[in-house]
Order: sequence, then C-alpha cells, then structure tokens
Amino acid sequence: MLKQKSGPSRRKVILIGLDSAPPELLLERFLDKMPTIRRLVKNGISGRMRSCDPPITVPAWMVMMTGMDPGQLGIYGFRNRKGWSYSDYYLTTSTMIKEKPIWEIIAQTAGMKSCLIGVPPSYPVRPIMGNLISCFLTPGLEKEYTYPHELRDEVAEIVGEYEFDAAFRSDNRDEILEAIRRMTNKRFDLANYMIEQKEWSFFMLVEIGLDRLHHTFWKYFDDTHPRFESGNRFEMVLEDYYILLDKRIGELIENCGEDTIIIIASDHGSKAMKGAFCINEWLIREGYLKLAERPEGIVSIEDASVDWDKTKAWGWGGYYSRIFFNVKGREDKGILTKEPGGDLDELVTELKEKITRLVDNRGVPMKNTVFSPDELYKTVRGDPPDLMVYLDDLNWRAAGTIGHGKIYLEENDTGPDDSVHSMDGVFILYDPRERIRKDIGTMSIMDAAPTILRRIGLSIPKEMIGKPV
Ligand SMILES: [Zn+2]
Repeated sequence: MLKQKSGPSRRKVILIGLDSAPPELLLERFLDKMPTIRRLVKNGISGRMRSCDPPITVPAWMVMMTGMDPGQLGIYGFRNRKGWSYSDYYLTTSTMIKEKPIWEIIAQTAGMKSCLIGVPPSYPVRPIMGNLISCFLTPGLEKEYTYPHELRDEVAEIVGEYEFDAAFRSDNRDEILEAIRRMTNKRFDLANYMIEQKEWSFFMLVEIGLDRLHHTFWKYFDDTHPRFESGNRFEMVLEDYYILLDKRIGELIENCGEDTIIIIASDHGSKAMKGAFCINEWLIREGYLKLAERPEGIVSIEDASVDWDKTKAWGWGGYYSRIFFNVKGREDKGILTKEPGGDLDELVTELKEKITRLVDNRGVPMKNTVFSPDELYKTVRGDPPDLMVYLDDLNWRAAGTIGHGKIYLEENDTGPDDSVHSMDGVFILYDPRERIRKDIGTMSIMDAAPTILRRIGLSIPKEMIGKPV
C-alpha cells in the first residue's frame, strides 16, 4: 500500500501557542530563566507579532491560522450581536469559521494530517484529516470533544479527566493557581502522547492557562500595576509558571524529531489593567443613551430599562468597547437617519472626536482610538459593531454595566481581573535546517499562516492578507 507520507520537500511543523504571552515577558524579562525558548530564539527567527483588531483570543487564533482578518472571518469577539437586536447575541463557535485554516489547506492540497489540541474556537468538534481535541469553549467532558470520537478513550487513559479551562475571575487565587498548573500539565502530557502515537505533519497546541494566570496574578508581579502589592506571596507565580512552560515545551520538542520546524506564538500580549471605563454611563452622561428609569443596583445594558425612542447609541464592555447606533429602518425603534450627511454621519464624527479627547480618572488624556469597521477591514462580514473603541491604548477595559453612578472603576465589572490585552504577541520560528538568529522586528498575525505554508513547501492562497516572513 502506498503510504500517505509527506513528500521529501514537505516539512513537519509544530506550533505551540501560548495564549496572551507578551514579548516583554517571553522574549525579555523571563528569557534567561527559560533555556528551551532561549535556544530557539538564539537559533531561529523571532520578534513581536501584532495581533488583529480586536486583539482577542477569538478571533485572533483563527486570524493566525487563516491569514485573514476578523472582517473576512466575520468575528469580532466571543460575543457577536444578533442582527439589529437590542439585546440578543450569539457566542462564536467553530461552525462559524467559513474560511480555511492551515490544517484544511494542507489536507486538501497535500493530503497532510494534523493534530490539534485546544485551538479556539474548536467547539463543536468538526472532522479534520487527523486528530483533534476541542478548546476551552467546550462546555464539559460529557460533550463530544475529540475527533475521532474514540480518541476520548485515549485521552481519559492518559490524563484522567481532561480539563479545557480553569475558572478564574474569583478571589480563590490559590485554587485558581492549582487548577491552572494541573490543567497545563495534563495538556502537555496529552500532547506528548499525541506526538508519539499519531501520524501528523502539522501539530498545534494552544495553552490557555497562561492567559488565565495573567488575569489572576498580574498585579502581584508588575510593580507598575496600580494595585501592585510588594512582597506578596504570589510575586513569583508568573515566573514559576513560565519556567514550567519552558520545561514542558522542551519535552515536546525532544519528542518531535530532528527535522521538525518549531514555532512558539501568542495571539496577543498582556499588560496591567489601569481600570474599567463605564462606556454606557458615559453615553448616558453625554445624552446619547437615555434610560426610562435608573436601575437600583448594577445591571447589564440588556437588563436596563432603556428608552429606545430617545437613544442614539449604546455600548458593550470588554477588552475593547463596541458601540452600536439606533438607526431608523434598521433597529426596531431607530431614530438616526442614515442618508449621507444625516444624523448618523454627524454622530459618528461627534463621537469619534469626543472619545479621542477623553481623560482618565486623574485627568490625564487617554490615548483612545475609534474605528468604523470598514476603516479596519477589506471586507466586513457577519455582525460588526458600528464603532470599535480602544481605551487608552487598551490599558483601560470597557465596562458595559449601568448603575455605578460613575465613569471610572478601579476594578473590572465582571469579576477580579488584573490584566488587559496588549496588541503585540510573539512569534518564534526555529528551523533545524537553518539555525540562524534573526530578529524580525514586528510582523503581523496574518503573516503566520503564509509563513508556515511557505516552510512546508506549499503555495499561499491569494485570499490571505499576510505575507511570509
Ligand atoms: Zn488570547
């Protein structure tokens, strides 16, 4: 029987994804403590990788794997607004990805097999040529989380109860830490097993634990964090975890064979959260959002009694803020006229101007940026917001809840959280056939897929925006 192996010029690639690893930690502060990563950097190409807009886990990993922007994918975050509804939304799932990620391209053009662990969004499970274990969005082990189905028995045998994610944003920091480390170790144990036991040309693992760790422990190690506590007992937690990752990555690489190309990448970076800006409170104060009555406690915009007949705009919170307009003929109770030079155009100009002039809680100008989706993307599919707002270069989160009676919050409105996303992630590529050190400066997250295809020896689809580095 003819063996379906990749041809002599085709290369094997392993991509180890470290969700939210910032260059400032992985390539600078902790590099000396990480012998494996240091060796890869010393003998490979490395640098910063600018994430997509918005720099959020979903869609960023899929942008990396398709070489296309969020507009082409039609995905603007975990949540997407449902049509022109005031309150309905849907969560992004794997089935919404219509464009081809790398593993589909190499399967279709070269019959090459892949092995994927935890690449978001990969729930619900979709068949691939190879093996797949779904991501942190999987509701639980009772669901179908492997492809093929029988793989779940092997997973159970290797790690017992597999863990997709670790619950964070609570005050049980000791528990969170233990859960993250346990989950990570299980994921790497499983990856080691898959590397050895399965046939693959492309292997990809995304470790979400690092992101959870950043959100939970950032203020304990970063002395520039507004709520840094010096000499606290969690000060070494981040460093210890990076060292654990390095050790576990070293084992994986050892198992991959000598000719495999090794990539370490992150979907975006991380940095200290300065606070949360109440976008809807601000819109209320400025007269764009009208309430029929003030809520008694703190409520979501969906639960607030909004006077839609008098409201022009409202927002969503998160790492960035999404603003929506109440447009005549589009929204149920729309009031803004859409024709050129009408209320809508006027409002866009006015809001952009006002938002870029905002100051923070200490009166310091915020470095805010505001975009209409068509300014960012070549194609705008799906259900985009009307405006996308980055507050103070993402140092501030947006809070969507109402009832605070103020604009600035010291803490996140959806549970304890110490970090926000920063724009730049990392990209390290080590090719054992080259072994040269090269600093690539800053590449785009959309360059990753074409870079990998070129290395494997396959042509790059013309729909990909990125270019190989
Ligand atoms: Zn992420």
